[in-house]
Amino acid sequence: MTGKILISACLMGLPVRYDGKPKTLLHAAVARWREEGRLVSLCPELAGGFAVPRPPAEIAGAMDGGDVLDGVAQVVEPTGRDVSDGFIEGARRALAVAQENGCRHALLIDGSPSCGSGFLYDGSFSGRRHEGEGVTAALLRRHGIAVYSDREVDRLVAVLAAEDAAP
Ligand code: SF4
Repeated sequence: MTGKILISACLMGLPVRYDGKPKTLLHAAVARWREEGRLVSLCPELAGGFAVPRPPAEIAGAMDGGDVLDGVAQVVEPTGRDVSDGFIEGARRALAVAQENGCRHALLIDGSPSCGSGFLYDGSFSGRRHEGEGVTAALLRRHGIAVYSDREVDRLVAVLAAEDAAP
């Protein structure tokens, strides 16, 4: 069996989202990994010091998490309050936990300014989406950790099966 998988805590059924709800991912493979003790659950936003519930947040100006890490974009709440520092801190903690546990893969929920890996909301709080990755996804990828969205479990299954089969 290859290494552990970092997983968004809300996908594990923990009520940690900004609205106090979970986003439980029901998938046979996830249930099996859980039984095998292969999942490392973490919420970057809680790790970054945010509470539940909390205001929603988006990355302003249709930018993405890499831009936030590079200091050229901000994560904002609907009031315009800049909460980038907490998001960056949460990403750093997620990376540290992933590295401590030897995670080379992460399964994160898409669309989040932290965990998104395929799409984000554009900062207008109007529901408009664009391609991009959140702050945590960007930092993990910069450190060689592969990030899969909650729609890509089957792809992750295939990757892990190939790794497990390797000599
Ligand atoms: S930061 Fe990630 S794990 Fe935490 S609630 Fe948002 S999507 Fe879920």
